[in-house]
Amino acid sequence: MREPTIKGNPNSGGGASRRTGSAAETTTSEGRAPEGNDDKLRPQRLSEVIGQRAVAERLTICLAAAKKRGEPLPHILFDGPPGLGKTTFAMVLHNELGVELNITSGAALDKKMDVMPFLTNAAEGSILFIDEIHRLPRAVEEFIYPVMEDFRVDVVLGEGMSARTINLPLKKFTIIGATTRSGMLSGPLRERFGMHEHLEFYDVEDLARIITINAAKLRATIVPEATWELAARSRGTARIANARLRWVRDYALARADGHISLSVACDALAMQEVDKEGLDKQDRRYLETLIRVFGGGPTGVEALAATMNVSVDTLKDEVEPYLLRREYVVRSPRGREVTSKGYLHLGLPEPPREPDLPLFEPQRRLFQ
Ligand code: ADP
Repeated sequence: MREPTIKGNPNSGGGASRRTGSAAETTTSEGRAPEGNDDKLRPQRLSEVIGQRAVAERLTICLAAAKKRGEPLPHILFDGPPGLGKTTFAMVLHNELGVELNITSGAALDKKMDVMPFLTNAAEGSILFIDEIHRLPRAVEEFIYPVMEDFRVDVVLGEGMSARTINLPLKKFTIIGATTRSGMLSGPLRERFGMHEHLEFYDVEDLARIITINAAKLRATIVPEATWELAARSRGTARIANARLRWVRDYALARADGHISLSVACDALAMQEVDKEGLDKQDRRYLETLIRVFGGGPTGVEALAATMNVSVDTLKDEVEPYLLRREYVVRSPRGREVTSKGYLHLGLPEPPREPDLPLFEPQRRLFQ
């Protein structure tokens, strides 16, 4: 099995830095704790991947077909919130095919010349994984269109009247893109991917299976009730389940005999301020700010981010997807709004809502 090559500027804040295991690892996000090196817990084979069944089945077919035809995989785009398995799928495909994998990030590819070495050095059938592909500048994006379509790059030599374009043929390889914002990708780029797979949040059963397997990998003993509790409080996200498991394991070692019982798990999670539904401090702060400062909304995400002093990207990528999925907030063209369920979760009274009056109602009242 070949080792993946990880390239890109580790200080760019891109996904590549997350996997280097360097000091840059602490830059995962604002507000949330660093989540440890996930690579040890990452499934290596398609058969080890938990959940995401429909996606895994389609990829199995794709793999079998590519192997039989002796051709590279089609270009694949994975989208979905962070920590659901986009990188994992790319790595699993590289392991299944036994081909070279190069990893970079859209944020690290500032100029055409940054991406050039990845293209010209790509071996036949290899995989180039571009994390955060929505951060590719438009010029770089346009530069890779002919790569994705015809496996060639068009290089312009010289300037002005004497400028000429040469076409450089490339080996046939696969680009796997990952994004948390497929909406930010231009239509032409999206259309050049042969497959587009959306990853969903995990259900509690799948997270419980992931925790059971990973507890064994970490040599931690955990009772089924604690596994279930952790799974239920992991925000539907595999990476968060791993992070919570590591924290609970450490807590059990420091404060108990190392064995993860239900009460140890609950105490550890309470210390991290993770509530019964798995929401953390940042999630609750989002809801509280929306209620206290903006009267429950609707309000724009920019105003909310400025008040909370966090970036809009953090709110959009990490906080909101799960709150929307659990229906604690709704998003409309007018902005974000807390639902009755959101008020209930925080134990706050919901202000009476103005009924939507028909247009003639104010006039009728005037004459009463
Ligand atoms: P993303 O690239 O979407 O941000 P990753 O692929 O890096 O997320 O996943 C984060 C971690 O979650 C992985 O290291 C792996 O341990 C775990 N993980 C993700 N998907 C799965 C899965 N389907 N089954 C088991 N573990 C998973």
